Amino acid sequence: MPRKQADLIVENASELATPEGGQKPLVGKQMLALRIIKDAAVAVRNGRIVAVNKTATLRSAFKASETIDAKGKTIVPGFVDPHTHLVFAGSREDEFTMRIKGASYMEIHRKGGGILKTVAETRRASEAELARGCRKTLDIMLEHGTTTLEAKSGYGLTVEDETKCLRVLRLVNETHPVSIVPTFLGAHAIPPEYEEHPSDYVKLVVEKMIPKVTRSKLAEFCDVFCERGVFNIKQSRHILHAGKKYGLKPKIHADELTAFGGAELAAEVGAVSAEHLLYASDKGLKMIAERGVIAVLLPAASFALMIERFADAKKMIETGVPVALGTDFNPSCWIENHQLVVALACRQMKMTPAEALTASTINAAHAIGKAGEIGSLEPGKKADVLILDAPNHNFLGYRFGTNLVSKVIKDGKTVVDLQ
Ligand SMILES: [Zn+2]
Repeated sequence: MPRKQADLIVENASELATPEGGQKPLVGKQMLALRIIKDAAVAVRNGRIVAVNKTATLRSAFKASETIDAKGKTIVPGFVDPHTHLVFAGSREDEFTMRIKGASYMEIHRKGGGILKTVAETRRASEAELARGCRKTLDIMLEHGTTTLEAKSGYGLTVEDETKCLRVLRLVNETHPVSIVPTFLGAHAIPPEYEEHPSDYVKLVVEKMIPKVTRSKLAEFCDVFCERGVFNIKQSRHILHAGKKYGLKPKIHADELTAFGGAELAAEVGAVSAEHLLYASDKGLKMIAERGVIAVLLPAASFALMIERFADAKKMIETGVPVALGTDFNPSCWIENHQLVVALACRQMKMTPAEALTASTINAAHAIGKAGEIGSLEPGKKADVLILDAPNHNFLGYRFGTNLVSKVIKDGKTVVDLQ
């Protein structure tokens, strides 16, 4: 039989490790069950994966115009980051020092710092300035293996500034190799001008922002920061229902700082994902497991905020909650390296490298509605592939604070080549 033509073959890898996709995110022991191939190869054609197998077997069926020798290296799917606040202006290193001295998140927030400082800076910034910041971040993320991410608005908090941020995301998505899935997070904080009458802000989100955002097709998801002192359960429910009415799938920042009933609300509204969940109740976890709501866990946020507590990933996995991992990239958690998230997940939340890889790829892809296209190395999927300078996937999290990426292939093209 003549060999079929591929555009690219990556071959001779010491290991290929990938979760295998399906209609639903992986839960429980499925999260550990990676497909592992030793002496592995991947063939790519027209930006998609056409074969994954042992090098000798794949070579007997395919030839290619370009080959990459991955001897001694490991092939895994590109990381999918399901939770970032990519678009903002300025920085908050001053608060970092305050936190070291013991100030809490809410104390900083009440002093006009935190989100509100970034809101003021983001409102002043032009689309071009914001786009420049996003591209800089994405360059670094891509170099560390992130090939797709979700990005939220939420530092504009006016109709004009929220749509400005979402337009920036659309522009950057069209002009940068990293794929961006946009989320509307107008309900990120109560802006200072509505402090005395927050229900009017909720009204603005529901009656003006959501219709405008969906009319211009600027977002796929609607998120809300459901937390004591931010948006309460009733307001969060109202906003998420309004988003759903306009076709925005719900996500929710839930039970991050207090046990607030966010997980229960996520189950009730049928959210695609619930994020943070540090204080989620047992009942809430059971409810989201039953509804298949994905827990997007963000260990770098605990690390950045200097809080001792991390989400109880082990309990979630035992309860049957599908777990995904994200960076929570934002001005108070400035992390571009997803591999460091894996290291924190392994050490602080006792996830194994296999579970963390599943949580960073296929389950993360489910959390942003893209699991049919990305998140695993399987024929038909987009060729978003990492070649790691490591003999096997257990090096993920084991070596940390450094970049294991040797090459990044996005849509079948080599976009990062660090040798
Ligand atoms: Zn967040």
